[in-house]
Amino acid sequence: MDCLFCKIAAGEVQAFKVYEDESNFAFLDIMPRAPGHALVVPKAHAPTLLELSDEYLAKLSLAVKKVTALLQERLSPEGFTIGINHGEVSGQEVAHIHVHILPRMKGDGGHSIQSVVSQTPNPATDGIETIYHKIIQ
Ligand code: 5GP
Ligand code: ZN
Repeated sequence: MDCLFCKIAAGEVQAFKVYEDESNFAFLDIMPRAPGHALVVPKAHAPTLLELSDEYLAKLSLAVKKVTALLQERLSPEGFTIGINHGEVSGQEVAHIHVHILPRMKGDGGHSIQSVVSQTPNPATDGIETIYHKIIQ
């Protein structure tokens, strides 16, 4: 399969790996937005959370915690933004699920996760109650 992150997992493409366990690995993003910007990646190929098995997902979340703790210990950031670009529309470029861990410092020019979208596109007709009833039918 022509997948960049599968190739990194297989050692066919070089990366600065900072963590590895039986189900996951983590490496530094080649275009870091912050010092220590890392990606945590399951060794099983799955484009998004929805295709990833529960077993791999559980282990992925543990790996995210371990890598966050490692970066905290070694780089002492003031916080983190941790997230997934889930699907092309959200900015996902590599179709193999990965969790971005971005160390954060005051004044780094970044914003919160909520700032990645602006207003709901149709606030007049799609109020929160309408949305609620669409979800909980
Ligand atoms: P996405 O937009 O899919 O959530 O993020 C993909 C990330 O992978 C980007 O931040 C990009 O900089 C990173 N990336 C793309 N190609 C490579 C590569 O060959 N090596 C490494 N280490 N990171 C890469
Ligand atoms: Zn893959």
